[in-house]
Amino acid sequence: MSINEVFIGFGSNLGDRCALINKALSALAVLPATFLVKLSSLYETAPVGYLEQGAFLNGVIQVRSGLSAPALLERLLAIENTLGRVRKERWGPRTIDLDILFYGAAVISSPDLLVPHPELVRRRFVLEPLCEIAPAWRHPQLTVTIAELLHQYQLNNPDEIPCRIVAGALPVVSHEVTDGIFYRYGQSC
Ligand code: ADP
Ligand code: MG
Repeated sequence: MSINEVFIGFGSNLGDRCALINKALSALAVLPATFLVKLSSLYETAPVGYLEQGAFLNGVIQVRSGLSAPALLERLLAIENTLGRVRKERWGPRTIDLDILFYGAAVISSPDLLVPHPELVRRRFVLEPLCEIAPAWRHPQLTVTIAELLHQYQLNNPDEIPCRIVAGALPVVSHEVTDGIFYRYGQSC
């Protein structure tokens, strides 16, 4: 089984955003053959496009996983489905988004999965948390680092306000289980 360094972007803008993010991270922490490595701070950004919706909370988590990329995607979609709908009168909109940003240095282009995530270079709310935890990580296609991508983004968008940090990086604490080391994080938002 090969172990890959994977970066997952998460975001929520509906319901109890923090609670949803914490639940999503808890679900990631117990995925088979997957260890949490690093978690960014939480960043708040005003919505783009549809302005009639609440502000987003975004962040990035780095995991080490033995799951294949399609298997991991399937798990992420299952977590989204479990958490991502709030029951009001009927099933509401999705409230949590989990995206595979990088899967090691893999370049994947299938109908269901594009890796590296094609939008990440255009998303400040991804680049900022990514740069916080992995500034030297290299984009396998563009062959530049995350720090360089963020710098380039800032040069191209000089008037844009940086994302606001609403909660500091959450501590990641190791926790032994029988089939490996899993990581538990403390929640603080
Ligand atoms: P977005 O995250 O771009 O706002 P959605 O979350 O609604 O859009 O899109 C979900 C679909 O995107 C999934 O069903 C999945 O097949 C596809 N997809 C393609 N590449 C990725 C990726 N790298 N990470 C997560 N989903 C992806
Ligand atoms: Mg998504």
